[in-house]
Amino acid sequence: MTRAGFVAIVGAPNAGKSTLVNALVGSKVSIVSPKVQTTRMRVIGIAMTDLPHDGKGGGDRAQVVLVDTPGIFRVAKRRLERAMVAAAWQGAEDADAVALMVDAERGVGEETRAIIERLKQSKAPRFLILNKIDLVPREKLLVLTSELNGLVSFEHTFMVSALKSDGIADVLAAFASAVPAGPFLYPEDQAADLPMRLLAAEVTREQVFLQLHQELPYEAAVETEKWEERGDSSVRIEQTIHVQRDGQRAIVLGKGGTRIKQIGARARHELSVMLERPVHLFLHVKVSARWADDPAHYRAIGLDYEPKS
Ligand code: GDP
Ligand code: MG
Repeated sequence: MTRAGFVAIVGAPNAGKSTLVNALVGSKVSIVSPKVQTTRMRVIGIAMTDLPHDGKGGGDRAQVVLVDTPGIFRVAKRRLERAMVAAAWQGAEDADAVALMVDAERGVGEETRAIIERLKQSKAPRFLILNKIDLVPREKLLVLTSELNGLVSFEHTFMVSALKSDGIADVLAAFASAVPAGPFLYPEDQAADLPMRLLAAEVTREQVFLQLHQELPYEAAVETEKWEERGDSSVRIEQTIHVQRDGQRAIVLGKGGTRIKQIGARARHELSVMLERPVHLFLHVKVSARWADDPAHYRAIGLDYEPKS
């Protein structure tokens, strides 16, 4: 039997979300925090695990797709921003479970309170993860646990140190039991590779927005089409930047291709630092007018599945 589903990780900045995802996935995938957010559910890691033979779903093999719900706490002023924040919340609500991560040393701040207010309306099972227990005495953890559980009920409270991978096996087991029985959402052998592809797309997309943010609509997206490990320890990456109109394609290319060269050069540099090896990056720009209806679009932003309706 297999199980698979989405778990949204929410929490104030610096709570340790990326550190937790890295620990759960077991490889360094979630290292960037993009400045520009456009997607509703961003896959930040895929963890595979076997459920213990005793508990619920005993012996099942589970694929837990960890998703980020970006922009969730910002007080949005502009219409587009408001729409994005609303969509991010919808993403959290569509997940099979939501985990709220709190920095135990910092305690409950304004952002965490705002998230909790919103979590009250969500029907997905909620978990509480108190992180950084290596910095905090036990008594304080207990006080914090009752404070938070007084604000909203959680199925379970975990106390972990994501940094030291302390307590995270229990978290993963809980996530694995929270996702429904069903086929894997990503082929098992791709599960490790996919976050790297998404991450690489994110790096390039960030450059597109940093360099062109005034001129391009939010809908532009980047897809990693090919990822080829080469014998000399370098990697060859091919990506497509999807835009909606010819005019936007011209903007991304720039005069004589100068803009796309700039985007490629910066993205390549970031990627080679991140991957710690030489990167050959090839960018294509494609007009995909019916973008929103195209399944490839969902794949590009990490939504390679049939949306629940
Ligand atoms: P995010 O913004 O929620 O993704 O938080 P990060 O994962 O980027 O972590 C923010 C900071 O907290 C980083 O400097 C981490 O090294 C640190 N951190 C994360 N988890 C722990 C932990 O368990 N213990 C300690 N002492 N530091 C942690
Ligand atoms: Mg982070």
